[in-house]
Amino acid sequence: MRVLITGAAGFLGSHLCDRFRQEGHSVVGMDNFITGTPENVAHLRGDGFELIQHDVTEYVHVSGELDGVLHFASPASPTDYLELPIQTLKVGSLGTHKVLGLAKAKGARFLLASTSEVYGDPLVHPQPESYWGNVNPIGPRGVYDEAKRFAEAITMAYRRTHGVDTRIVRIFNTYGPRMRPGDGRVVSNFIVQALRGEPITVYGDGGQTRSFCYVEDEVDGIYRLFASDERDPVNIGNPGEYTVAELAELVLELTGSSSELRYLPLPEDDPKTRKPDITRARELLGWQPDISLRDGLSRTIDYFRRLQEEERLGSATILTG
Ligand code: NAD
Ligand code: UDP
Repeated sequence: MRVLITGAAGFLGSHLCDRFRQEGHSVVGMDNFITGTPENVAHLRGDGFELIQHDVTEYVHVSGELDGVLHFASPASPTDYLELPIQTLKVGSLGTHKVLGLAKAKGARFLLASTSEVYGDPLVHPQPESYWGNVNPIGPRGVYDEAKRFAEAITMAYRRTHGVDTRIVRIFNTYGPRMRPGDGRVVSNFIVQALRGEPITVYGDGGQTRSFCYVEDEVDGIYRLFASDERDPVNIGNPGEYTVAELAELVLELTGSSSELRYLPLPEDDPKTRKPDITRARELLGWQPDISLRDGLSRTIDYFRRLQEEERLGSATILTG
C-alpha cells in the first residue's frame, strides 16, 4: 500500500509512520510543523518514505496513487490548542474536508484521528461509543472538541454521500517517547518536572481521572482498525483509570525524585473523569492494550532522561525514541 499520513511529524503520526513502514508500506508524510518536528521522522527518510511540508487547510495535492489517507494533523495538547484556537478549528474542519476530498479523488480508504474529547466532561462512565457527549461549545476547549465533532460529522457525510471508505478512531490519552518536553500534557509535564527536581504541577485537587495508553498499544489498535471493515467510531485507549494525584505519585516513585507537589487552579471545563469502554475494540479488532502504566512510564522516563542527557552534553542530536 501507499498511504498519506497527515501530522506525520508529530508524536502519534511519527509512530504511525514507523508502523506502516515496518509492515512494508510506502508512506507520504505531510505536516506544517506547527507542533511537530521533522526530526521525529528523520530516521525514516529514504526509500518508501517522503515528507512534504504543507498546511492541510490549503488545497492538498499528492501525485501518484494512494490506498489510504490517515488524518492526524491537529494540535492535540490542551496547551497547544488553547494557544492555537483558530488553527485548531481550521485543521479539524477545512483540513478534514481537504483530505476527505483527496481520499475521494484517489479512491483511498480514510481514517480520522478523533478523540475522547468528543465526550467532553462525560456524564456516562466509562464512555462507550454510543454516548453523544457533554461538550461546552463556547468554552476554551470547544475549539478542539467541536472541530473533532465536526470532523466526525463530515467523515460520515463523505461516507454516506460519496461512498468514501471511512474509519474513525476515538483516541484516549496516549503517552510515550517523542512527546515534546514542553507540550503541556500531564505525563510529559510530570516526568520533566520530576527529572529536573522542579515542583510537580497538579491542577485542581488532583482527583480528576484519566486513562493512559502507551503509544505502541495505541498505534497497534489504530493499525488494526484501519485494516478492519468497521465504519463506525471505535474507542482505542487503556481502560486503567488513575487520578492525576496517583499519576504524580507513580512518576515520583519511578524517577526516584523528591520534587514536591504544587497545586494550581483547574483549567476551565477540565473533564472530571475519563475512561474508555473498549468492548467494541476487543470484539471487532481483537485488540486490547498490553503495556501497564508502570512499564509505559518507565520507558517514557528513559526517553526523557536520554533527551535531558543529550541536552546537557550540548549535542545537536535529537533522540527519536
Ligand atoms: P502532535 O501535536 O504531536 O502532532 C500533530 C501534528 O500535526 C504536528 O506535527 C503538527 O505540526 C501537525 N499539524 C497541525 N496542524 C497542521 C496543519 N494545518 N497542516 C499540517 N500539519 C499540521 O499531536 P499528537 O498527540 O501526535 O496528536 C495527533 C492526532 O491524534 C491529533 O489529530 C489529535 O487530535 C489526535 N489525538 C491524540 C491524542 C493523544 O493523547 N496524543 C488523544 C486524542 C486524539
Ligand atoms: N494536568 C495537571 N498538571 C499538569 C498538566 C495537566 O494536573 O501539569 C491535569 C489536567 O488538568 C487534566 C489531566 O492532567 O485534568 C490531563 O491533562 P492533559 O493536558 O494531559 O490532557 P487532557 O486529558 O486534559 O486533554
